[in-house]
Amino acid sequence: MAEDISKLPVLNVGIVGHIDHGKTTLLHALTGRFADVHSEELKRGITIKLGYADAILRKEGEGYNVKEGEAVRYLTFVDVPGHEMLMATMLSGAAIIDAAVLVIAANEGIKPQTREHLVALAAKGIKKVIIVQNKIDLVSKEVAMKNFEIIKDFVKGTVAEDAPVIPVSAQQGINVDMLLKELAEMEVPSRDIEGKPLFVVARSFDINRPGTKIDKLSGGVLGGALKRGKLKVGDEIEIKPGLSFKDKGVMKYETVRTKILSIRRGTYEVEEAGPGGSLAIETSLDMFLTKTDNLSGCVAGLVGELPEIVNRLKIKASHFSEVEGTETHEKIDDFRINDLLMLSVNTSISVGKVVNAKDEEVELDLNIPVVSFKGDSVGIARNVGGHWRLVGVGEVV
Ligand code: GDP
Ligand code: MG
Repeated sequence: MAEDISKLPVLNVGIVGHIDHGKTTLLHALTGRFADVHSEELKRGITIKLGYADAILRKEGEGYNVKEGEAVRYLTFVDVPGHEMLMATMLSGAAIIDAAVLVIAANEGIKPQTREHLVALAAKGIKKVIIVQNKIDLVSKEVAMKNFEIIKDFVKGTVAEDAPVIPVSAQQGINVDMLLKELAEMEVPSRDIEGKPLFVVARSFDINRPGTKIDKLSGGVLGGALKRGKLKVGDEIEIKPGLSFKDKGVMKYETVRTKILSIRRGTYEVEEAGPGGSLAIETSLDMFLTKTDNLSGCVAGLVGELPEIVNRLKIKASHFSEVEGTETHEKIDDFRINDLLMLSVNTSISVGKVVNAKDEEVELDLNIPVVSFKGDSVGIARNVGGHWRLVGVGEVV
C-alpha cells in the first residue's frame, strides 16, 4: 500500500557541484534510485537535464535510512548538471530547492563549477547547505585532511560558511547515513500556504510511451514546485508566458489555460499539494504542448491570479569581483547600457539588453518575457569566452 506522505514535512534538496564529482552517484546512494536518465545522458555519461528522485527518510534507533523505521520526512531531490555549459539549467533547478548538498570530490578539490554553483545558490536565495566531501575512498587520510582545510577556507564568508562537511564515498555507500542525519535535522523553511498559488515550472514532459492507446493517454505534465499557496486536482490554471509563436517576425506569447487532472509528489499521487518538494502536475493539455520542456521556465497559477508578463525588468543588481566559473578568473566590469545579460528569474531564463544602469539599478529589455514579483532573486550571467557565466545577483524592484 502506498504510504501517506501528506503529513510529513517535505524538503526539496538540490545536489550541486562540479561535473564528475559524484552528484548522480550520491543521489543513487541516498535514495536507491537513479534520477530518470535520458538516452543522451547514458551515451555521454553526464547529466544534461534536471533529474528527480525521492525518498522517505526514516528513523530507526538513533540512525536514519530510507528503508525501515518511522517515517519522519519526505525528501525530494533535484540532480543538476555540473557541466559549465549547462549553467542555465542548474539555475532553473536551484529555483525550486529549499536546500543544497554541494558535492566536492576530495581528489580534485575546488573546481570552477564548485565555485559557480555556490554563488548560484546565493543568487537564488538558498542558505541551507551541506557539503559532501566525496570520493573519500580515493585519497589518503592526509590528503582528505588537507582537502577539508581547503574546503573550510573556500566557504568562509559565503552562505556555506557554517555548513557541515561530511566525508563520503557515494560509490561505496560510506557515511551516506551521516548525510541522511543532517538532512533529517535540517530546519524545514516556513511555507506560505495561504497566498495565491504560484507554481514555477522547471520541466515539462510527455509521459506517454509510444504506442499508448488513445483512451489511456495521459495529459501533458508540468514538473516544478509551488512557491506558495495550494493547488488541487480539478483546479483551473493558467500558464504564463505560455506558448510562443511568431507573428510577422515578432515573437509573441499566449497564456495557456488548462485543468489539473492529477498531482504527484515523486512516486506518490496526492489530491492537493502545498509548497515544499517538487511536484508533477498532470494537465488536460495535449502532451504535444508539454513535450521536451516546451513550457519550462513558465509559471502557473489559478486563472486570473497571475500578474501580467513583462518584457522590461528593473532589478537592483550587484556583480562579483571576478568570474567564479572559469579557471582564468576574469575581472567583472560594471553593468552598463547595451550590455547583454542573461537573467535567471525563478525557473525562467531570459536574455536582456541593459537600457538603463544607474548606481545599483539596472533596467533591461528582455527577449523572453517573465512573470516576476517584487523581491524575486535574480541570477545574472554574462557571456565570457563564449559561455554564459554567472557574474552577479539581483532582486526585482
Ligand atoms: P556527476 O557528474 O557529479 O553527476 O558525477 P557522477 O555521479 O556521474 O560520477 C562521476 C564518476 O565518479 C563516475 O564514474 C562514478 O562512478 C564516480 N564516483 C562517484 N562517486 C564516487 C566515489 O565516492 N568514489 C569513487 N571512487 N568514484 C566515485
Ligand atoms: Mg550527474
